[in-house]
Amino acid sequence: MIETLAVCRERGVPLVVRGAGHSCGGQTLLEGGVVLWNRADEPDASQHGDEVEVCGRSTWNGLEAFLGARGRTAMILPDHLELTVGGTLSVGGYGVRSVAWGSQVDRVSSLRVITPDGQARWLPADDPLARRVLAGVGTLGVIERVRMPTLPARPAASWCSRSFDGLGPMARWLRWVEAVEHPDLWLDAWWADDVAVAEWGLEAPDPERAKSRLVPGPPPERERLAWHLPLLLHDKRWRWVTSFPDHRRLWIDLMMPHAPFVALCERLDRLRAEGGRPPTAAYLLVSRAPPGHVPAVASPSPWPVSYGLGLYFMVPPGESSASAERTIELLRREGEALGARPYRYGYGAEPPWDEEIERLRDELGAGEWFSPRRRRRSQIDDAGLVIQQGRAREDDR
Ligand SMILES: Cc1cc2nc3c(=O)[nH]c(=O)nc-3n(C[C@H](O)[C@H](O)[C@H](O)COP(=O)(O)OP(=O)(O)OC[C@H]3O[C@@H](n4cnc5c(N)ncnc54)[C@H](O)[C@@H]3O)c2cc1C
Repeated sequence: MIETLAVCRERGVPLVVRGAGHSCGGQTLLEGGVVLWNRADEPDASQHGDEVEVCGRSTWNGLEAFLGARGRTAMILPDHLELTVGGTLSVGGYGVRSVAWGSQVDRVSSLRVITPDGQARWLPADDPLARRVLAGVGTLGVIERVRMPTLPARPAASWCSRSFDGLGPMARWLRWVEAVEHPDLWLDAWWADDVAVAEWGLEAPDPERAKSRLVPGPPPERERLAWHLPLLLHDKRWRWVTSFPDHRRLWIDLMMPHAPFVALCERLDRLRAEGGRPPTAAYLLVSRAPPGHVPAVASPSPWPVSYGLGLYFMVPPGESSASAERTIELLRREGEALGARPYRYGYGAEPPWDEEIERLRDELGAGEWFSPRRRRRSQIDDAGLVIQQGRAREDDR
């Protein structure tokens, strides 16, 4: 990697790092340059007491297999386990355990970063550079290795669920989680096909304990037991995503405190009622930051408790994305006016740029070549030919 950086630096060849390439706004596309594909199935990990050290190119799936064999689990797993550790740490990293533990960038102990000048540096997470690399969308270096805490494996889980008439009522109802601090709490909430459902429960070491524990929150409509929650959710998401082959993903997530979250969810309900283009699915998320924690500079969730609204538009081949883009623009504008922050993996999300990042980029030799200011995916690929895994449809070539 250091050699590749040196060649690109010397010749001024633009370079961008790509993990699993799941970002939705062309963050890992580059015209006329090098895309450094930084993903591996083998986790290259080592255990250090309750902490794990793992390389940034590992997938969460690989890491979970490594930890599972040692009776441990990652503190915050994304719902989709094929993402890379370095990729999610470069944007934020959320999952159903975020309601208890916050975002992945909040829970890193230290990281080894290869900066554009070819130096490898181990940095504590509160180092000023580390605080800009985490959630920094690859603008200041490559996350090569990371150390983070793990939890004892808890393969069983209680699973409560409740449905709602719309996103607004579900968003208002979700407020109860703010009063509950429980290390085993998980939460998942989504809207699709006119149904809004919240699911939550407690993870436990075995089914007996999962059954006997009192689940916090208002009474559920249904209750059951689940086994291997992360794998179950990964499968569920995978089945959903792959049921839209060749579709273009116009996805954005916005994070915010509770009041704007309710306002934005209600806005989406009104938009649907008025006949506007609703997303194919929406995802609601709660993230609780560790007490007293200093968040990453570009963290999408710097508040003690942050609420996320994800809008996922799946646009079939040949269909115009104009109506989806209008809804995205509208909700982004209104969300940002209410103080919401974008999750920067998303469609149309700009990477964070401020004076300090520019200064550090200069100091580290990033110049114009390392992770250059990106153009929107629509500018690079306006016909939408580049789809999942970079395949182009035969009839569009
Ligand atoms: C199906 C699907 C499911 C998703 N599920 C989740 C989820 O459960 N939780 C969640 O938080 N997000 C989720 N996302 C959102 C998002 O795509 C990812 O969090 C993010 O893109 C990380 O995944 P990746 O490995 O694909 O990174 P990429 O998309 O490849 O990269 C993301 C950004 O980080 C940079 N980058 C990548 N690797 C490194 C590195 N090692 N060092 C420095 N910079 C780097 C890239 O240049 C890019 O800007 C999901 C997206 C999809 C499409």
